[in-house]
Amino acid sequence: MTIILNDEADTQRLAKAIAKTNPTGSLWLLGDLGAGKTTFTRHLLHALGHVGAVKSPTYTLVEPYDIHGKPVYHADLYRLDDPEELDFIGFFEYFDEPNSLVIIEWASRAKSLLPKPDMLINITRQADESRVVHMTGIRLDG
Ligand code: ADP
Ligand code: MG
Repeated sequence: MTIILNDEADTQRLAKAIAKTNPTGSLWLLGDLGAGKTTFTRHLLHALGHVGAVKSPTYTLVEPYDIHGKPVYHADLYRLDDPEELDFIGFFEYFDEPNSLVIIEWASRAKSLLPKPDMLINITRQADESRVVHMTGIRLDG
């Protein structure tokens, strides 16, 4: 499925629609720096029911959330030097938690070690600041 997001309000609407499907498993967010991966994640976490700030996990690698009992992890692997580090922090255990959602920016940094994604969202920033979004594994029509 391919859609165009004209502005951040559209991104928020998409996040709300995806939140309604109770996404579980792993979600890879693809796209260049500034594409809108973290912005989308912020809207998704809020749409899932998180109240409060959403920090970019650029330096911490992972920010964990507990949203009404649903374990949600937001990872940004851009600064990952050694993929083995993921094992070290127990990253692979996140996938085994019931009903968990693991959102990963820059999954390409650890592609060989990560399980295949259940959902993919690829965001491309256009010259006019709109975003073209390709999605796989997400069923918006329920
Ligand atoms: P990334 O995590 O992909 O590097 P960010 O989400 O940190 O990107 O930054 C995206 C920037 O683009 C933000 O400043 C955001 O406000 C802006 N932006 C403009 N339009 C959109 C849109 N439609 N969706 C997401 N972000 C947008
Ligand atoms: Mg980001």
